[in-house]
Amino acid sequence: MHLRFKGLVIISIATLAALIGIQGYLIYNTYELKKKTYTFDARTAIAKVYNSKEVDSVMWIYRNNFLSNLKTDAKSPEGKIHLLSDLRKTTATINPGFLTIYKAGLAKQEENFDVRFKKIATSIELTDTLTGKTDTIYRSNGTDTLILLGEDFNVNEGLLINNSTWQDHTGPFKLVFKSSVFMDIEGWDKVMLRELSGILVLSSLLFLFVVGLLYYSIQNLMKQKRLAEIKTDFINNITHELKTPLSTLSLATNTLTSEHAKGNKEIADGAVKIIERQNMRLQKLIDQVLQSSLGYQQIQLSKEHFNGKIFINELLDDYILTIPSSEIILNRKIESTGIAIEADRFYLSTAIINILNNAIKYGGTKLTVNYGIDNENSSHIITIQDNGIGISPKYQKIIFAKFYRISEKDTHNYKGLGLGLYYTKQIINAHGGIISVESQANRGSVFTIKIPIV
Ligand code: ADP
Repeated sequence: MHLRFKGLVIISIATLAALIGIQGYLIYNTYELKKKTYTFDARTAIAKVYNSKEVDSVMWIYRNNFLSNLKTDAKSPEGKIHLLSDLRKTTATINPGFLTIYKAGLAKQEENFDVRFKKIATSIELTDTLTGKTDTIYRSNGTDTLILLGEDFNVNEGLLINNSTWQDHTGPFKLVFKSSVFMDIEGWDKVMLRELSGILVLSSLLFLFVVGLLYYSIQNLMKQKRLAEIKTDFINNITHELKTPLSTLSLATNTLTSEHAKGNKEIADGAVKIIERQNMRLQKLIDQVLQSSLGYQQIQLSKEHFNGKIFINELLDDYILTIPSSEIILNRKIESTGIAIEADRFYLSTAIINILNNAIKYGGTKLTVNYGIDNENSSHIITIQDNGIGISPKYQKIIFAKFYRISEKDTHNYKGLGLGLYYTKQIINAHGGIISVESQANRGSVFTIKIPIV
């Protein structure tokens, strides 16, 4: 059962993990697809502007300028440096006009793309057609960029959308001018986030819902499992508790009906007494089970005001008489508080006696009962301390649950139904009070009852 339950939980968690994986993969694919579509649309928009007549005429300006400079500067070595600086000058002159045309062209598109554009020279080579010697006038090295058109931005941020080569025969030279076009979509992450926000929110909600559902199901399953265990324990315990009085009863009736008892009044009286005692024991057991079915709302209190010191002292005086062993010491530190307790005497006595009985049952030989006032919480405070086997912290909350018994300890040594503390808690709750325990395994326990001052 335990293994099957564990297996079920592991399978559910693994299924959830697989679902998350698949969902993540689908979202990633959607992201990639959206990115591709968006890039494609932006590229198309740029291409439309770039291939327009206005841009074409701008392009011709710098080409013509470059060619005419080439004719004069190409022959000398310094001329080549001039060529590049002239090229930069041409760009500085025509770029503002180009940017105006570019931005106006983009604005005309259906979708409003915020895309930066740049055309850079990647290499310029001149080959002497007579000698066949090739001279590299410029070669981009990645850090130094020769912008022909557009805005400067880091190439790594941008996306290469086109490489082009311009060739020309100018006099004795053959020109090979290579350039690249880059675009950079501004606020790329924000655009994608906006596009994917719907699907992200939806899948997060779905994820939370599935996790919640799983959590709820596992909790429920655990509760059911615990209930089933408690039920089995209870049946075992009550069977165990019933066995002794029943077999004693059967023995006593056998004695009573035997020939031997008929002529002997002493034996007959002894057997009748045993029957009476066992009858009482059975009655007590049944009462305990019946009482414990009451929740604190169903407990009908008939409250009265009484002196706490007198009440507890009397209760302990009576209790001492019922303790079977003289080895048990009962200490008391009962204060005269001057404030009356408002409670039901009968129920409050039952609660205190239950705790005292447990203290002795679970190994206590030295018991101390305190009574006083807790000014901070304005309540009467009764503590019952024992030096018994103690309760390890992990059980301290659960021992007040119905039918709960700590199974770690040998249950044959400590008989019970797991109802005493549950019923005690119901009584204290019905008074608006609280009950708690402080304990360590093998170090005894301290049960504290707080009843509000009204
Ligand atoms: P029962 O005594 O019939 O088992 P209770 O509801 O009275 O049921 O107690 C629940 C469990 O709490 C017990 O099974 C026992 O393990 C633990 N317990 C209660 N009182 C004490 C105590 N004074 N010292 C150690 N363990 C205790």
